[in-house]
This record gives sequence, structure tokens and C-alpha cells, in this order.
Amino acid sequence: MSGEPQADCLFCKIVAGEVPATVVRETENTVAFRDINPQAPTHVLVIPRAHYPDAAALAAADPQAAADVLTEARNVAEDEKVTDSGYRIVFNTGSGAGQTVFHAHAHVLAGRGLQWPPG
Ligand code: IMP
Repeated sequence: MSGEPQADCLFCKIVAGEVPATVVRETENTVAFRDINPQAPTHVLVIPRAHYPDAAALAAADPQAAADVLTEARNVAEDEKVTDSGYRIVFNTGSGAGQTVFHAHAHVLAGRGLQWPPG
């Protein structure tokens, strides 16, 4: 898998600036932006610039970019000042797990009580 942008991918369009997003952080390998339908007071998505359909494919093809996504998730939590209260990093992987956008992404969720197990 090459990681090349896909014409029909919403998150590739956000990376390219073709679809607007509220971007909160950017690095060479990643973009972080606020979820359009937030499920918690803090709900930020961290994506690799490269296109891989899910986190497992990203980790297999580009371990450094996968690590960068995780590091940026941590940096988002720092920026949002939620490290003390706690936060959740979620990679929905596959439609059966609730994945709806097939460009790898981490959800960073915080700012309310988070139940376990998740629904
Ligand atoms: P998934 O269900 O784990 O694939 O997460 C996809 C997320 O993308 C959902 O939480 C959506 O609310 C979010 N989303 C979909 N379209 C946009 C957009 O245009 N901007 C920001 N977030 C989006």
C-alpha cells in the first residue's frame, strides 16, 4: 500500500485543504482537527497525511507515521489541558467497530466521564 492520496477520501481532501476543517495541530506527517460531530467537549481527530484505510494498515506500512499519530494525540491532550483529568485515544478499525471514514485516524476524547466498556 503506497499511502498516495485517494480522490474519493474525505480526510485526504482535508489534508489537501480542499475541505475545510478546524485544524488544531499539524506536523510533517499528521494533521489534527476537531471532529464535526463531537462526542465529548474535547473531540479531536489525528490523521496521517498519507492515505491508509485504517490504523492497522498504517502501522504495517509506515510505523513512523503511526507513532507520529500517537505522539500527536498526546500533544493534543496536552494542548487541551486534559492530561490530569484523563482522556481516551480510540482507533475504530473496521465497519464492525464503528469506523465510517476509511482513512486512518485517532479520536482524542476528553472533558466528560467516559464509560468502560465503550458501546
Ligand atoms: P470513525 O467513525 O471512527 O470512522 O470516525 C469518523 C469521524 O469523522 C466521525 O466522528 C465523524 O464525526 C468525523 N467526521 C466526518 N466528517 C468530518 C469532517 O468533515 N470534519 C471533521 N470530522 C468529520
